[in-house]
Amino acid sequence: MLYSGIAASPGIAIGRAFLYDIEKYKVARYEVSESQTEEEIDQFKEAVQRTKNEILEVKRKVAKEMSKEYADIFGAHLLVLEDPFLIIEVIQKIRKEKINVEYALWSVLESLISNFNALDDDYMRERASDVYDIGRRILQNLVDTKKITLADIQEEVIVVSHTLSPADAVNMYKSEIISFVTEIGGKTSHTAIMARALEVPAVLGIKDISSWVRSGDLLIVDGSRGIVIVNPDNETLLEYEKRREKLNEFIKGLTFLKDLPAQTLDGYRVEITANIEIPEEVDFVKNYGAEGIGIYRTEFMFLDRNELPSEDEQFEEYRKVVSKMNPYPVIIRTIDVGGDKFASQLNLPQEMNPSLGLRAIRLCLEYPDVFKTQLKAIFRTSKHGKIKIMFPMITCINEVIQVKKIIEEVKHELREEKIAFDESMEVGIMIETPSSALCADILASEVDFFSIGTNDLIQYALAVDRGSERLAYLYNPSHPAILRLIKFIIEAAHIKGIWVGMCGEMAGDPAYAIPLLGMGLDEFSMSALSISEVKEVIRNTTIHEAKELVSVILDFSTPEEVEEVIKKKVKEKINYK
Ligand code: PEP
Ligand code: MG
Repeated sequence: MLYSGIAASPGIAIGRAFLYDIEKYKVARYEVSESQTEEEIDQFKEAVQRTKNEILEVKRKVAKEMSKEYADIFGAHLLVLEDPFLIIEVIQKIRKEKINVEYALWSVLESLISNFNALDDDYMRERASDVYDIGRRILQNLVDTKKITLADIQEEVIVVSHTLSPADAVNMYKSEIISFVTEIGGKTSHTAIMARALEVPAVLGIKDISSWVRSGDLLIVDGSRGIVIVNPDNETLLEYEKRREKLNEFIKGLTFLKDLPAQTLDGYRVEITANIEIPEEVDFVKNYGAEGIGIYRTEFMFLDRNELPSEDEQFEEYRKVVSKMNPYPVIIRTIDVGGDKFASQLNLPQEMNPSLGLRAIRLCLEYPDVFKTQLKAIFRTSKHGKIKIMFPMITCINEVIQVKKIIEEVKHELREEKIAFDESMEVGIMIETPSSALCADILASEVDFFSIGTNDLIQYALAVDRGSERLAYLYNPSHPAILRLIKFIIEAAHIKGIWVGMCGEMAGDPAYAIPLLGMGLDEFSMSALSISEVKEVIRNTTIHEAKELVSVILDFSTPEEVEEVIKKKVKEKINYK
């Protein structure tokens, strides 16, 4: 069976499926070691005991508040827990198949339910129903206390899930997961960005895929074309194995570019930097020859944890990145929590439109202590390498002025504390809202650089949720509105004498390398994986040709016309096998 979705992270993975979505799809199955089976059994016994206590408590309450007659119903449930049938069956399954307890219990309950209707005897049917109800309670107790995360998965599997959060995706770094497939999500969602950062092929937005796949099925995930094949025949398997090899050869064939500059045939030079989310990515980035970090998304350190990271903890994280990248610069982007990234420790109220709500710089200005702690950690790090600082989701000049005032306070405190820092650190902002784009000329007077965040700029300018698989057809960097905004931002910045980078995903798409070059973009920041291809395109182009292409595409009225021309052009520049 072949399913199509959104090609979110390139590459081909072949492996066994692992259904992860506990809430929607009951429980995940995974194998445990011989020694761990007894731990699984102990957890089961504890969950049985906890369930027993809960039922006893309910029985006591009902007897007190209602009548003994009603309370007796729970007596039948207690009998189930004393009946060895369910208990023995589950324990045997864990020992025999060496699997996790939740899955063992769930599968025993599933076979019970399928035998249910076959029973003629009313009494037996009722008993089976009691066993099933109790089993579900035990299962709930197990799932509540033993929440597995993707970091716990130590098998080379392909995760299939309804959805994955950016925090789930970070956890993948510690696991053996080779790929993932989800039912919802867009190409510039932070989950997709993380997949590319970790070089994990991924396909998103395949409706109901979790219902068609079972844990253990053989899957082929073609993240470059957005295709998933379930239980392929031998011929297809062979074909994809060959294709995977070819793709790896293609990537290897570009490694010669690592130490070469991103320079056009006629000598026009731009900078290629990388996007990172966690310090562990720095090694990948260096392998691909990035000339710095164009965006370090620091908020990933704030996700999926109970307390805020302290100033010292942040300092240590930033220092790791900055000293490893030295002498290349690192642009640290201050916390961009909100939207699709949740920091539970802040206990923020739910919003109707999180992407338009208390996100990024708005949140930092609302919580100045959190903001100042981060700024202090960043400034302290500036003595360990070259740092620039950048603020997300700016919409007006007042925010920039407020931020600069807080920076001065932080600097003052550091001087008082006699802590050394780089006094001349460049301060920049992300241009990722239509208002900041249209006021680029005004904002340029206040900062040292811009970095265009096309992921959000497209979302806000076109009014299309970047995480929506249904609206993916409308989310398009080739839309004339986006091209005009980008051109305007770059020109406005250059008139005011500041440089402009781009750290949205558009910068890493080889198809846009020539138009962006032609518009005058100074720095291209992307996931490490894209560096070689974009560099190859730039090195095979002239600045004259790039400018000409820009004047052609700016005359088009539809994204389709733009795409056709730029895709044709990029094919002339790079030899895709
Ligand atoms: C962007 O919006 O383009 C960007 C780089 O920031 P993020 O993807 O983290 O929102
Ligand atoms: Mg953004």
